[in-house]
Amino acid sequence: MRSVLVGPPGAGKGTQAVLLAKELGVPHISTGEMLRESIASGSELGKRVKAITEAGNLVPDGTMIDIIAGRLSKSDAALGFILDGFPRTVAQAEALKVLLEKKDMPIDVVVAFVVPEDILLGRIQSRAKAGGGRADDNLEVAAKRLKVYWEQTAPVISFYRDSGLLVEIDGLGTIDEVRVRLDKAVRSRKGVKIKQ
Ligand code: AMP
Repeated sequence: MRSVLVGPPGAGKGTQAVLLAKELGVPHISTGEMLRESIASGSELGKRVKAITEAGNLVPDGTMIDIIAGRLSKSDAALGFILDGFPRTVAQAEALKVLLEKKDMPIDVVVAFVVPEDILLGRIQSRAKAGGGRADDNLEVAAKRLKVYWEQTAPVISFYRDSGLLVEIDGLGTIDEVRVRLDKAVRSRKGVKIKQ
């Protein structure tokens, strides 16, 4: 099962991606987490992306495509995967398509989380208030991340709608309620194997 989760920051898609990965027995590939690890390790890549991510901007497509190509060539990705946070631009979606076609590993489903913008801001605000969170969780950066999402990432949803891969789910509700919807969306695609 090869799936992509798309949704605005604060939609809860990271939490759901972890749960779904466990259920399906496939790796959860979060480009945001990979970047945070690079930053924490002080690598060259980390140094290059630190200021960009902390300002709520997107890391350049070429860098991200190299990162994802490297990750998808690891052996565990042959089991399937859940992409969380990639693609974030139409250029990334196009590059991913070419990459996966070469590997004969097409995407089975793309799930988009739909959450109204005022609710997202509220969620991000409470995350910021809770403190101790991610460096990009403060209010100003959160608002910037939302803006970048609507401008650069929302078009990815249309891209996948046109490819016939898109399933939209309501992202409102408890973690369990959303998990049930996500499960249904993923199972609506043929060839889904659930780990026993
Ligand atoms: P996330 O944890 O997915 O919210 O990602 C955190 C930050 O990492 C984002 O705000 C971006 O700055 C950067 N990032 C993660 N994935 C990508 C991507 N696919 N393209 C560009 N930047 C990304």
